[in-house]
Amino acid sequence: MITRFAPSPTGPLHLGHAYAAIVAHDMARAAGGQFLLRIEDIDRARSKPAWEAQIYEDLRWLGLRWDGAVLRQSERLPAYRACLEKLWAAGLLYACTCTRRDIEAAASAPQEGVPLGPDGLLYPGTCRARGAARPGQPLPEVALRLRMDLAATDGAFTETGPAHRGRPEISRDSMIRDVGDVVLARREMGTSYHLAVVLDDAAQGITHVTRGEDLFAATAIHVTLQRLLGLAVPVYHHHGLIRDDQGKRLAKRDDARALAKYRAEGATPEDIRRLVGL
Ligand code: GLU
Ligand code: ZN
Repeated sequence: MITRFAPSPTGPLHLGHAYAAIVAHDMARAAGGQFLLRIEDIDRARSKPAWEAQIYEDLRWLGLRWDGAVLRQSERLPAYRACLEKLWAAGLLYACTCTRRDIEAAASAPQEGVPLGPDGLLYPGTCRARGAARPGQPLPEVALRLRMDLAATDGAFTETGPAHRGRPEISRDSMIRDVGDVVLARREMGTSYHLAVVLDDAAQGITHVTRGEDLFAATAIHVTLQRLLGLAVPVYHHHGLIRDDQGKRLAKRDDARALAKYRAEGATPEDIRRLVGL
């Protein structure tokens, strides 16, 4: 078993992160497996070395030791690029120059608002025809979207988390209708969260992905990509989210306290485990 914790160095770790890290760590240790660390720093504008250093410090303080070298997404751009080139040449991607405004204006029933997919506004497909690859055309340096109609297939994956335990089905129709042509490369990033996470989980040999249940819809995209790219599909374990007494997600609260703050106030790693209900 190989699990991972994959934080973005864009701010301090808080209780929700601690929970996710402990779940992944404990699952691997209980099985005599490996627990890996990946720094998801493709958002160059928001990622800061100081936050990355804080992640290492917080994990060490929590007593979570990771195996092997840390993988940083910022060092993986050539791998993302190679995959995009392949998908582009196969006609599975198209260039999209739409702004948020364009997407709103192109919606079939704008008065009802643009329907939402897992990444925000559901893309109406405006650029699908005009952005397609012409033979021999190099990868354009704009946003690239996946032709979901060509990419998605019916299938199931294995889920061990409490809310969806079993073999949740992914339907091609629903991927086309409810998810749409997701962005696989943002112009300024050379990749996207979905593409990077799928290629990195494969490169790190992750067998069990533990993540919050807020990412359940994203998992369907990831499994679709794994099948398309011929990658192994890991087992998924979606865990609950840490909430306060009012049911509000701790991670989303303005006053969500950084782990470092609990520590400065004298909390122990055992206190943190107790606070997150472990
Ligand atoms: N960087 C992502 C996060 O912290 C990784 C989660 C995932 O892909 O499972 O939410
Ligand atoms: Zn477009």
